[in-house]
Amino acid sequence: AQRSFVLIKPDAVRRGLVGAVLSRLENKGLSIVAMELRQVNDELSDQHYAEHVEKAFYPPLRTFVTSGPSVALVVEGDEAIEVVRLLNGATDGRKAAPGTIRGDYSLSNRENLVHGSDSPESAKREIDLWFPGLA
Ligand code: ATP
Repeated sequence: AQRSFVLIKPDAVRRGLVGAVLSRLENKGLSIVAMELRQVNDELSDQHYAEHVEKAFYPPLRTFVTSGPSVALVVEGDEAIEVVRLLNGATDGRKAAPGTIRGDYSLSNRENLVHGSDSPESAKREIDLWFPGLA
């Protein structure tokens, strides 16, 4: 089985969609192996989004991701990384397919409810960053 890091972002927490997102992950058959409500600060945002810190969209993204608590989790299952990204849908909620989390609940390119690791390397990096010692 493979593990992926998932972040349920502040917009989802504010809107009361944590349960809906978790249900989709669990209904699919993924197991939750770690989970915590976390207030992200600027430092953690910069580390998590290291590949985006120089991009024009990053300052407002950081403001958003630090704007309230998020739920950080690690899920496990067969091909968990790809499965989570399929469940999440395309980055832009306006373009994401109906039936996906973003396609059903987001109308925004930034406030798109969830993050999922995009490769085995980023999953390892992100799990080490958010849940050190989880192995
Ligand atoms: P994630 O990494 O969050 O799962 P993703 O891989 O679909 O999403 P990335 O390209 O890695 O998308 O961008 C990371 C996050 O940055 C997006 O989830 C979104 O919140 C934000 N973002 C990306 N592109 C834009 C943009 N053009 N304008 C505003 N926000 C953006």
